[in-house]
Amino acid sequence: MAESSSPGMKREDPDRNSKMSAVVVVHGGAWAIPDQLAEASVDGVKAAACEGSSVLKRGGSALDAVEAAVRALEDNPAFNAGHGATLNADGEVELDAIIMDGRTLASGAVSSVKNIANPVSLARAVMEKTAHVMLTSRGANLFAESIGVVTVPPDTLLTEYEKKEWEKHKTYVTGVDEDFNTQWAHDTVGAVAVDRAGNVACATSTGGIRNKMVGRVGDSPVIGAGGYADNLSGAVSCTGHGESILKVTLARLILSHVERGKSVADSSQLSLQYMADRVRGAGGSIVVSPSGQWAATFTTDRMAWAAVDQDVLCSLPAPRGQWAIRRLLT
Ligand code: ASP
Repeated sequence: MAESSSPGMKREDPDRNSKMSAVVVVHGGAWAIPDQLAEASVDGVKAAACEGSSVLKRGGSALDAVEAAVRALEDNPAFNAGHGATLNADGEVELDAIIMDGRTLASGAVSSVKNIANPVSLARAVMEKTAHVMLTSRGANLFAESIGVVTVPPDTLLTEYEKKEWEKHKTYVTGVDEDFNTQWAHDTVGAVAVDRAGNVACATSTGGIRNKMVGRVGDSPVIGAGGYADNLSGAVSCTGHGESILKVTLARLILSHVERGKSVADSSQLSLQYMADRVRGAGGSIVVSPSGQWAATFTTDRMAWAAVDQDVLCSLPAPRGQWAIRRLLT
């Protein structure tokens, strides 16, 4: 059964417009986070949520907020994105990211990039400076060079922790087939936000799954799977077993329930449960609606997440299996 946190705010709350406030929610990946990484994960998502929130407070857009929050997570070696990403079967970093603007449905993504410290910002440049939605591998790098995005030697994105984990696991062949409730997996990052104007945005960034085949691209940079944002329904960022998320187009599935009048918490639970039943996939999602209703939901053992809602930071350093909160504000 999916666990969920939700402020319990009713979508049709008549007072909501008069007290419209900005909300940012971030996740640091849904998986069986080991105890030794738990504190760093919770601290990291809290710091990233505060980063996104301060952008909103300064009058920045939801798009600016999700980019800032995800950049903070990419720069934090505790997470599987940017610096600290997992390694593929050849021991290389291959990074994927997406960003989407709910005002216009504009979206940008990059996949399989190796020497970019903040793929989310390159994804934003794809969205804003090209006529395309996704650039991959060499093409993404050529584009980065053409617009002056600084590249870094791929080795600088490697951490000692990840090198050791990769050495430990490289002989296993299960890779992308495991169910994400083991400590095999790692921690993709994402953010969703709504700004004071009611515009929503999402961003997701990842190194993918440890020991993945060279060139494997998961759900994270794929529009409708790893993320989606539409001012008419809400914004979603997903994490978990990428092949399962792709099969059920999880982000769009969640928003299709929202469009039919379900709360963001129920929509997330129903969709994650569907993914578990239909393709035996585990994962998690964060969702925010244009009216500021939000939820953080997961079917894995743990998911690090944090939210800033009406200037209140919400997160939960709780024992295994109880990382969801039910925060009822009604
Ligand atoms: N969804 C990511 C992928 O499959 C992994 C994750 O969320 O941890 O690439």
